[in-house]
Amino acid sequence: MSLHGTYDPDNIFAKIIRGEMPAVKVFEDDQVLAFMDVFPQARGHMLVISKTSKARNLLEAEAKTLGRLIGATQKAAAAVTAALKPDGVIVTQFNGAPAGQTVFHLHFHVIPRYEGEALGAHGKGMADVEELKALAEKITAAL
Ligand code: AMP
Repeated sequence: MSLHGTYDPDNIFAKIIRGEMPAVKVFEDDQVLAFMDVFPQARGHMLVISKTSKARNLLEAEAKTLGRLIGATQKAAAAVTAALKPDGVIVTQFNGAPAGQTVFHLHFHVIPRYEGEALGAHGKGMADVEELKALAEKITAAL
């Protein structure tokens, strides 16, 4: 039932939005937040979330929310491309546990790809927070 269900206000991203959990932020406004994925699949892996929506996934999202979110996702993809010079960028999101979703608060992944480097596992291998902060600084400078 992970594709359908009730929004959990205590999910990890809701806690990050409320400042109850730390995150390495890249940019935010009153509607959206971009931050570093703490289990990155590649150097510069970011997540972009809505700060206002209670959508658990793409299917539940209001069109207006989605518009703001995809605009912010494009901004994140452009900044990481300018900052880290990857050879490609994946933009993706998962809906429901069988599709790979583990946090049930709508989000987009922005994952830089580097030629010759395999994509890391999803949600495994915690990054060094100081390294994430250095990456976030670089990406922020390229906004
Ligand atoms: P998904 O599996 O698409 O729901 O993506 C959830 C993502 O959140 C995964 O890539 C995790 O690595 C990432 N993640 C989980 N907890 C945190 C956290 N506290 N801070 C940053 N990223 C997180």
